[in-house]
Amino acid sequence: MVTVNENYLLLKSSYIFSEINRRVEDFQRKNPDADVIRMGIGDVTRPLPSAVVEAFHRAVDEMAHEETFMGYGPEQGYPFLREAIAENDYASRGVEVSPEEIFISDGAKCDTGNIQEIFGQDNVVAVTDPVYPVYVESNVMAGRAGPADETGRYSGLVYIPCTEENGFIPALPEEKVDLIYLCYPNNPTGTALTEKQLAEWVDYARDSGSIILFDAAYEAYIQEDGIPHSIYEVEGAREVAVEFRSFSKNAGFTGTRCAFTVVPEELEVPDSQGRMHSLKELWNRRQTTKFNGVSYPVQRAAEAVYTPEGQREIRESIDYYMENARIIRESLESAGLRYYGGVNAPYIWIKTPEGMDSWQFFDMLLNEAEVVGTPGSGFGPSGEGYFRLTAFNSLKNTVRAMERISELSF
Ligand code: PLP
Repeated sequence: MVTVNENYLLLKSSYIFSEINRRVEDFQRKNPDADVIRMGIGDVTRPLPSAVVEAFHRAVDEMAHEETFMGYGPEQGYPFLREAIAENDYASRGVEVSPEEIFISDGAKCDTGNIQEIFGQDNVVAVTDPVYPVYVESNVMAGRAGPADETGRYSGLVYIPCTEENGFIPALPEEKVDLIYLCYPNNPTGTALTEKQLAEWVDYARDSGSIILFDAAYEAYIQEDGIPHSIYEVEGAREVAVEFRSFSKNAGFTGTRCAFTVVPEELEVPDSQGRMHSLKELWNRRQTTKFNGVSYPVQRAAEAVYTPEGQREIRESIDYYMENARIIRESLESAGLRYYGGVNAPYIWIKTPEGMDSWQFFDMLLNEAEVVGTPGSGFGPSGEGYFRLTAFNSLKNTVRAMERISELSF
């Protein structure tokens, strides 16, 4: 008899976004003239840079002619893109990453979700809390997480709280953990780690034999000095860290799909007999078995991100979003709300007013300001009492939403 993978049955329903939609629809039905502004969106809104679009068009035209047509490409990605990444994202910052250590993919979501496959079943997984849900749920599906309690906390995972009390800086775990997911700049809190703070984690991983899975999808939003753009800026990280990057949030590729994962040559993990194995070789084996590469035009489009014109245009878009973030921060300040983030990330993490939980604050903003955000409890138990706004709306809508919030009294 066929049976299902029962680990899937342990997943909590992805209640948060359906519940948001239900409440917004209900509100709009009762208030047909309401002009609701969505400040919860995690998707970019600005179009692809023109340098990217031109390269994309040229590559599509190549596909139309027998002499230039491209079929299957290398599963790891074309050398032209891997070399451009090694040069522009790493060598230019004094970081050593070779093109052979870079694996092109169609998203950091897939890569952060799939990476756990190359690790043993018994590894203890640690996540920061609140968290990007993919790290948690991919381990639930794999059977490493066990059942969840009523707050959504899975019994088999180690949660590292990031709250106002610790300045959103994750404390090193007291118990032994094997795989540690870190995302900096962080979604959802919008906070970043300094080089010194990240170095503590790298040192911990080196001492304890654990591996850090470092998601740097929001690296391009870093504005301040002293915040590492790559974990490999920290000494010793090549021996303990995998890094995930994406073209989604820096260059508007959310609908185009291109990302990459760096697995350094030095990364080795033992099997149960104590024999060491190269993680790069295991990831290569996984990718060549299950993945057939990103389309040629998309990789040419991604390559164009590194042209001077591409760089100028992506900087312009990031500046646009970060201006929205600045407006949000200033408005929250004048409304008397406590908030975090929005300086090195497009996310602003609001502390809900005294006595109000995440959903009560959601309802208040919806009813009184017609503004929609995301209740922090949707990102993990420690997200309760917080609320996420994003800088990804238009400037006009951001200004209007913030004017409305400024008029409320908390
Ligand atoms: N990692 C984090 C922390 C994210 O917030 C997101 C998207 O919101 C992703 C990864 C997904 O990136 P991609 O579009 O490359 O799959």
